[in-house]
Amino acid sequence: MASTERTASVAPDWLDAARRHVWLPYTQMRTAPAPWPAARTYGHIIELADGRQLIDGIASWWTAAHGYNHPHIAEAITRQLEVMPHIMLGGLVHEPGARLAARLAAMLPGHLNHVFFADSGSVAVEVALKMAIQFFLNRGEKGRKRIVAFADAYHGDTFATMALADPKEGMHTLFAGTFQPQITAPLPHDAAAEQALRDMIEPQLGEIAAMIVEPLVQGAGGMRMHTPETLRRIRAICDDYGIVMICDEIFTGFGRTGSLFAIEQAGIVPDIVTLGKALTGGALTLAATVASDAIYDAFLSDDAGAALMHGPTFMGNPLACAAANASLDLFEREPRLMEARAMEARLRERLAPARDMPGVADVRTLGAIGVIQLEAPGDFGWLKAHFVEAGAWIRPFGDIVYVTPALTMPPDALDRLADILLEGVAAWARRNR
Ligand SMILES: *Cc1c(COP(=O)(O)O)cnc(C)c1O
Repeated sequence: MASTERTASVAPDWLDAARRHVWLPYTQMRTAPAPWPAARTYGHIIELADGRQLIDGIASWWTAAHGYNHPHIAEAITRQLEVMPHIMLGGLVHEPGARLAARLAAMLPGHLNHVFFADSGSVAVEVALKMAIQFFLNRGEKGRKRIVAFADAYHGDTFATMALADPKEGMHTLFAGTFQPQITAPLPHDAAAEQALRDMIEPQLGEIAAMIVEPLVQGAGGMRMHTPETLRRIRAICDDYGIVMICDEIFTGFGRTGSLFAIEQAGIVPDIVTLGKALTGGALTLAATVASDAIYDAFLSDDAGAALMHGPTFMGNPLACAAANASLDLFEREPRLMEARAMEARLRERLAPARDMPGVADVRTLGAIGVIQLEAPGDFGWLKAHFVEAGAWIRPFGDIVYVTPALTMPPDALDRLADILLEGVAAWARRNR
């Protein structure tokens, strides 16, 4: 069905402005169907301009952990709006930021005590890289500037974070020569792979500053899962060679894998953690880079030049910090982690029949993440529209069709979402036969 037909009778008057002037992410603007006009959200529902209500399977890139428009978060933002919507963090500090930093330090394991705020996940990762590299510079170790990242990793879209993505990704060839390539290694899934990783990095030790990993699930690189043991192997390697370990919890943090942070399931403590996405419960943009005492201490000096020279204009925005504090209240007061674990069991059961469906290569679940991997990648324009017609918002990419719902989605809605997912995958297989 043509996109114009879909929206013709009810198109809001701003839709034409959107088509002319809004440049959408990851979108071929000539051939992609027009975007769906969203009118409002609540709970696990997106309401389109024509009044259709979609069950949201993505929670806006897995940010809306408590569902949309949660009254407790909305109230906290409204209260902060009247007092102080924004103030620079240069030389000034404010209550929501102070409280949030202290709470994050208390919630994270070990001595991860020092919180540097940013306004997006990619920037939080850039700050983590800067911290790791300068950690060595401040200690007089000059050559250690390279980063080890893993195959199928995704750490953001800025230049330094692009360099951490798997080189087989398109952006690498397109932008070849514009950034310093980093070292890409396979994840150490077993003892032999761990030894191979050690053998690979040993000759380059004098150049390596950090290893960065998305703990337990590699998100935007294909929703690939690994075991806690794999993370413990990486921790052991970093310990043995004095490499800074960065865990990028931007996707996994705040309950997505069934624990507040994925690293808890491995019982490891990285040297730096990056947070973002669900940090504010999806209400506002905020990210954080949290460093251990040992990292932070390397920046303490009588030499001003040893300071961390970074400062996003809107870092630690008080509205966003108030939203994040309210989101953390909800994690403390409400059974969010139990809900995430219950969702894992239900998704596992509901998606299992996909294993026997034609065109399906793999089905996997962890926490509130359900993934059906297809045998071949596709241009999923048709399937996305099919899901909308069926009443769900699901955005397949690469070769996967996945859901990352709000942790609060009630079981009957989750069942309906899973039914739509399976029916869509079956229809896709018939269409491509
Ligand atoms: C989304 C994501 C990022 C980038 O965050 P942005 O806010 O989009 O810049 C980085 N790392 C991981 C693991 C992510 O999922």
